[in-house]
Amino acid sequence: MLLGAHMSISGGVDKAILRGHEVACETIQIFTRSPRQWRARVLEDEEIARFRRVQEETGIDPVIAHDCYLINLASPEDELWQKSLIVFLEELGHCRDLGIPYLVLHPGSHVGAGEDAGLERVAAALDQARGEIDGSGVKVLLENTAGQGTNLGSTFKELSALLNAVTDDSWLGVCFDTCHAFAAGHELRTREGYEATWREFDELVGLERLMVIHLNDAKGDLGSGLDRHEHIGRGRMGLEAFRMLLNDQRFRHLPMVLETPKGPDLAEDRENLRVLRSLVSARAAERDAKN
Ligand code: ZN
Ligand code: MN
Ligand code: MN
Repeated sequence: MLLGAHMSISGGVDKAILRGHEVACETIQIFTRSPRQWRARVLEDEEIARFRRVQEETGIDPVIAHDCYLINLASPEDELWQKSLIVFLEELGHCRDLGIPYLVLHPGSHVGAGEDAGLERVAAALDQARGEIDGSGVKVLLENTAGQGTNLGSTFKELSALLNAVTDDSWLGVCFDTCHAFAAGHELRTREGYEATWREFDELVGLERLMVIHLNDAKGDLGSGLDRHEHIGRGRMGLEAFRMLLNDQRFRHLPMVLETPKGPDLAEDRENLRVLRSLVSARAAERDAKN
């Protein structure tokens, strides 16, 4: 399995890998820049080399990048849209330089302009970006969202519409966030609900589009629209949802990362990873016993 967590890049991008290694991650997610500042982050050759060396040494693979919170490629305002595109391009450049294969992107918020208008803006931004970074090999993964406010991407239909709206969808994939899906009304706790959710995902988006999973329990109820992450098994989703996901053969090869709250000693990451791994081995033991 490829299990891990989002890690801080404080002190350098290579430090995130070391933090992940410390808590036995097989994969990690990072921001490649400050998530709350417009100011560009320059990656020096030395930092890039250190990152690549530490990744080689630890074997943590893949490293996944997440876009910063300021970006809104769906914005109806030209100035914010342009600034967002510049930061998005900066992040794509960082991914290329660091050898990061995936950049997870929140589709953005239409801020009242309407879903269709919002989706058009995102598609235009993605098309423009595609022209500017062609050949870098980085895949942009659209993340499903919780359905808060005017955020796009809380339904599989919207993700599908966005994939269809871009000129070239071959460089796009999808990142599935369990908390967001649950908050947006997708049942994941029962076998029936779980299968129905993935059937709908497959019909509208396509399972072959799925490249990364975010493992977060939810503070809010089913359909609450609340984007509040909780520790695995401690939220409204509970352990069974994660047991089904972790033992689903269709997703065995996919990197799965936690985005749950934690302190500087990363004790919560250790505990959440322990819980996740216990769910995998329990089911595997059950299968072995049957055979
Ligand atoms: Zn996200
Ligand atoms: Mn997420
Ligand atoms: Mn979230």
